[in-house]
This record gives sequence, C-alpha cells and structure tokens, in this order.
Amino acid sequence: MALGTASTRSDRAHTVRDLLASGKRSFSFEFAAPKTEKGERTLWNAIRRIEAVAPTFVSVTYGAGGSSREGTVRATARIATDTTLTPVAHLTAVNHSLAELRNIIGHYADAGIRNMLALRGDPPGDPMGEWVRHPDGVQYAADLVRLIKESGDFCVGVAAFPEMHPRSTDWDSDVRHFVDKCRAGADFAITQMFFYPEDYLRLRDRVAAAGCQTPIIPEIMPVTNVRQIERFAELSNAAFPPELAERILAVKDDKAAVRSIGIEYATELCARLMSEDIPGLHFITLNHSTATLEIYENLGLHQQS
Ligand code: FAD
Repeated sequence: MALGTASTRSDRAHTVRDLLASGKRSFSFEFAAPKTEKGERTLWNAIRRIEAVAPTFVSVTYGAGGSSREGTVRATARIATDTTLTPVAHLTAVNHSLAELRNIIGHYADAGIRNMLALRGDPPGDPMGEWVRHPDGVQYAADLVRLIKESGDFCVGVAAFPEMHPRSTDWDSDVRHFVDKCRAGADFAITQMFFYPEDYLRLRDRVAAAGCQTPIIPEIMPVTNVRQIERFAELSNAAFPPELAERILAVKDDKAAVRSIGIEYATELCARLMSEDIPGLHFITLNHSTATLEIYENLGLHQQS
C-alpha cells in the first residue's frame, strides 16, 4: 500500500486542495517548529488562540538546512491529533537523500498529515551560497513534488516569489520553473512575504498567462519591531518600502507605535489584495498570535469564522 493511504485519521482529514476548491477564501497561519521546551509552550499558546478563529489550515516550517526534522514532525503530528486544525507540514530537500525524504514523508503519513509544502530549501549558513544537491537527493522542488505525489495521496503546495526567486536571472525562466512545479503535481502555492500588492498581482498574471491555474496564496508578515526592517530584506529579498521604514524609524523608541504602524500597513496590504480575486491569505505568526489576529480582526474576518 502506498504511504498515506492507510485507513487512519488521514482519510477524514481535509486537504488544502479540497478546501480551496470549495470556493471559500482560505485564511491560514504559519508557525515555526520549536527548538526548546519554552519555544514549544509559546507555540502551543499561539496555536490554541488561532484555533479559536477556525482558520482554513495552519503550516509548520522545516528548519533551515533540515535542522528541525523532529520538531516539525512532532508539532504537525500533534496539530493533526490534538486540535481541530488542518496541518500543512513543510519539507525541504536540503541535506536529505531520497531514502531520508521517503522516511520523513512516511512519518508525516503515519501522523495523519495529508498536506505538505515541498521546498528545495537553502544551503545551510548562507542562503545565497552554492546549492549542493545531496548525492542521492533531489535537485529542484519539482522533483520533491513528484516524490511526495508518488508516495501517496497527498496534497502538495510549493513556494512562489512575487519578486522573483533570488537565484533566478529573469522572469521568463522563473515563471517557467514555477509552472513546472505545478505541472509536477502541485495543488497550491504560497508566496514569499512581500510589501507591494502589485508584485503579487504581477506574478499571478504572469503565471496565468503561462496557462497555469494553480491557486497562489499571498503570504503576509506584519512588521512589529524595528529590527525586522533589516532582517526582512535579508531573509526574503523583499523590497522594504522606504516610506514604511521612515514612518517606523520616526517612532523607533515607542514599541507600541512601531507595532501599530506595522499592523496598519499589513491590514491595508491585505485589504487591497482582498479587493482582487485572491484564493486566500497566509499569515506568518513567528509563533506569536497577537499581531496576526489583530489584522484578522481589522479585516472583519473574526465574525466570518
Ligand atoms: P525551486 O522551485 O527548486 O527553485 C529554486 C531555483 O531554481 C529558482 O531560481 C528556480 O527558478 C530554479 N529552477 C527550478 N527548476 C529549474 C530547472 N529545471 N532548471 C534550472 N533552474 C531551475 N525554507 C526552509 O528551509 N524551511 C521552510 O519551512 C521554508 N518555508 C517556506 C515557505 C514559503 C511559503 C516560501 C516562499 C519559502 C520557504 N522557505 C523555507 C524558503 C525556501 O526553501 C527557499 O526560498 C528556496 O530557495 C526556495 O526554493 P523553491 O522550493 O522555490 O525551489
């Protein structure tokens, strides 16, 4: 029997594909796999608060360089068994052989997880360093999508980049490779964080013009402190709006004011995106629920859940 087809809770768990196909807009949240016991408690406080608003799904990241394999498997498995939430487990190809990848996919399947986000991942240490494929591993995310799909009845998501993947040299090849991942079997995509709605809309239109209808969910991360201004650009390659940086730096000693500007900007970004035909919104929580729940409330989504 293929992995993931055993008659377990997984048969009853939802797939993101079905939830998106229902036509309702998706609202989802991303958590990071915890590394310490304290981190685990913080994560579960956030999960319980977010469970109360009944999101479409929640996802759990896979530590850079494959560092959080156990933490990701444990957290997603517990979400599947102990909560009413639909979990999406991230999986990266970094430093893993095919046998290891199959083994992790098997663990996810055993835990009743039906949804995965297939990512190539970045080289450990320097994200822009040379990508070296594991001698028995995969080269691109599209190969990982195929591997997961061959392993069982899974719903698979992939990454999309509103400002182009940092390693891509031109838009044509970037979009072509994104479409390859979708043709390999991806059911949905989630973007890298971004700050200008036009970047998302342009990517969406380019992908549609290439004949690909895979739903692309925009990812949102509110700025809640000054340090994030530099950190964001470093992590995501996303252009940080100078006017937003200026507003934040003008009140940099007032933490509440900084947070409030960040939440206001993210709320406006979401509202602009929601005025378009988007499949949903995916919020990065950094394992703290309050900022993203405030945005959720500002958008009037609390009442709908
Ligand atoms: P790919 O799709 O393989 O693309 C990588 C590069 O190769 C691109 O430039 C692409 O155009 C090019 N390419 C693809 N196919 C070909 C081909 N056939 N020939 C030539 N070039 C090709 N990282 C983590 O470590 N853990 C996480 O949990 C995590 N979660 C993420 C969640 C989201 C929503 C996003 C957007 C990113 C996440 N990342 C995570 C970061 C991600 O791993 C990196 O951004 C990585 O570089 C993205 O790879 P990919 O999956 O898009 O790779």
